[in-house]
Order: sequence, then C-alpha cells, then structure tokens
Amino acid sequence: MTSNPSVTGAPVGVRPAVRAVPAYPFTPIQVPIKLDQNENPYDFPAELKAKAAQRMLAQPWNRYPDLHADTLAAKIAEYEDWDADGVVVTPGSNVLIKLLTELAGIEQTVLTVDPTFSVYTLEARMLGARLVQVPLNEDFSVPVDRLKIELQRQRPGVLYITQPHAPTGHVDDLAAVRELLEAAGEWVVVLDEAYYQYSGTDGRELVRQYPNALSLRTFSKAWGLAGLRAGYALAGADLATQLQKLVPAFNVSILMQSALEVALENPGYVQQRVAEAVAERGRVLAALADHPTCQALPSRANFFLLRTPDAEVAYRHLIGHGIVTRRQDHLTGLEGCLRVGIGTPAENDALIGAVRALK
Ligand code: PMP
Repeated sequence: MTSNPSVTGAPVGVRPAVRAVPAYPFTPIQVPIKLDQNENPYDFPAELKAKAAQRMLAQPWNRYPDLHADTLAAKIAEYEDWDADGVVVTPGSNVLIKLLTELAGIEQTVLTVDPTFSVYTLEARMLGARLVQVPLNEDFSVPVDRLKIELQRQRPGVLYITQPHAPTGHVDDLAAVRELLEAAGEWVVVLDEAYYQYSGTDGRELVRQYPNALSLRTFSKAWGLAGLRAGYALAGADLATQLQKLVPAFNVSILMQSALEVALENPGYVQQRVAEAVAERGRVLAALADHPTCQALPSRANFFLLRTPDAEVAYRHLIGHGIVTRRQDHLTGLEGCLRVGIGTPAENDALIGAVRALK
C-alpha cells in the first residue's frame, strides 16, 4: 500500500535541508515595554500616515503595481544619490537575504562571522548552500585575516558583513571592510547596513567602488516602518539586474509603495529620532556602567548587549517589570547576554530601574 501523506500526516517531498532547520526563533510576548526587536519606539508621524492613506486611496487597487516598484526605486535612488538601475526593493530586507543566497549561495558558499544575524545562516541551510562561519574577534571586530583565508580557500559565493554588527552593535573601520572587498575577487559581498543611521558610518561610497559589493538597507529601523515591510539593496547595475531577476514580479504592493513614497518625500523626522536614540543609548549605557553584576556593552546601533550572570533569570526579571528583551545567550561568546533595544526616554528609565534592581 502506498502511504498517503494526508493520512499519515508526514508530507513527502519536503527537502531534508528545510526540515532540518528550526523555524525563525521568535515568540511574541505581550508586555508594555517592547525592547526585543530593535524597532523604532515611535510610529510613523500621524500627518504622514494620513498622507500615505490618501495616496493609497488614489491608487487603482484592481491593477498590478509597477513590475519592480520602479517609481519607488527611483525615489530611493534620488534619496541615496544612487543610480536607479542599482536599486532593488523587496518587502523587507530579510527577503533580499533569501534572494542573495539564491543568487550567490546555492551550490556555492555562504561565508559570515559567528555570531551573526540568524537569517543569513537559516537561509544558507534551507537553500542548501555551504555555510562557513568564522568566529568574531574577542572585541567583536570582524576577523579580517581569517575571512580573507576563507575567501581564498572556499569556492566563491556570498560574504555577509553587518555594520553595525548584529547582535553586538560593533562597528568596524571602513578600512577593514575595504580590505575584505579587495580580497573578495568573485565573491558577492553584502554589507548589511540595517542600523547604519545609528552608527555614524555609511558604507555606500565604498560599495560604489566595487561591482561585487552591495549595501542592504531597511525601512524597519530608523524610518520606523517595520510594519510596512520594506527593504532595498544598493548595488552596481549588473549585480542589481541579476538580483532583480530573483524578485517575484509585482512583489511590492501599491499600498506599500504609496506609504514609502510619502516617507521618502518627508524624511526629516528620521534624523531627529535617530539623534534621540543615540543620546538615549549613551544615557542608558552610562546609567548602567557601575552595575555590580551586569555589564552593558558599548554599541553603535539602536540596541546593546547586556551581559548578566544568568540570562534566564535576568530575562524573567525584566518581564516581571513589564519589559521584554531578546535572549542571546545561546550564541557563541555571548554567555549571559540579553539584547536590549533603545526605547523612548520613559521606557529607558523603566529599563534602567529594572536592571538596577537585578542582583
Ligand atoms: N539585517 C539585520 C542585521 C537585521 O537585524 C534585520 C532585522 N532584524 C534585518 C536585516 C531585516 O530587516 P527587515 O526584513 O525588517 O528589513
């Protein structure tokens, strides 16, 4: 008798690589202070939301959007001073990570550091790319020499570098990134700059000089638009053309395009929010500097690592104070660590109080 999947409950045909990978590790927790997803604590300004809604209403919803969000890509290009042929837009930059793995990882290699942003490794595993990870240096800087060895040793593929790094918040000198770009040869080098606005560095001009380099950016953090789901790549025209082939047609809805166009026409609010987050980051780190048992590690993103004597105890303690953070203690070298987002000043006050109450 042939086994019927609907009877046995075991679907056939699923690739073992997909089955072997755990689902994206995130459990939503309902508490008042949400510092677990590196979001912007402030919503999109109400007057811009109203404008975006008006623009959405003016669109025909029965028609497909631009094939590749061309109008939006042109607006991003203008904002970034980039050639529109080199902009690729998707619903979230995590989609671009999947597509970049398809572009240059499958049957080849995904090279990154350890610890690293989990999506690079999840996608590599699910899509069957060879995954090579090199430990970060002890100070969380990028291990340039060891990566250069792997760039030589492995078949080409895609190298992911994150600036600022997630989850440490560390930023390397652009000279280190340049050294990797120089050594990359045929590798595609992705500079994931999801948090660059908070760091005072910007790899865009460096990326411009290397046809195999690409900057990955998102509207989810500094722009405060995580709910819309939008990210983009800045690349040279050829790399962007190849990447664009992998983006499903009509992937960016007219609703999202309308809202993002309004954001790009009114970007003034971003700078002020980034400035507040940077000032608050400094205040929180300073306030926790003399904690007897916890160490708030320096960061140049909108989050920081809090090293505690026991991550489970600290996580529960903060939940008890109505604050949710993200455990990182399962990652190499991050024993006892929670990742804590920077919130509003009032949320940060609550955090400081709760961490001070932690023994
Ligand atoms: N890269 C990094 C380093 C991130 O931390 C995130 C979000 N947590 C992303 C990419 C993906 O962001 P999004 O899909 O919201 O654009």
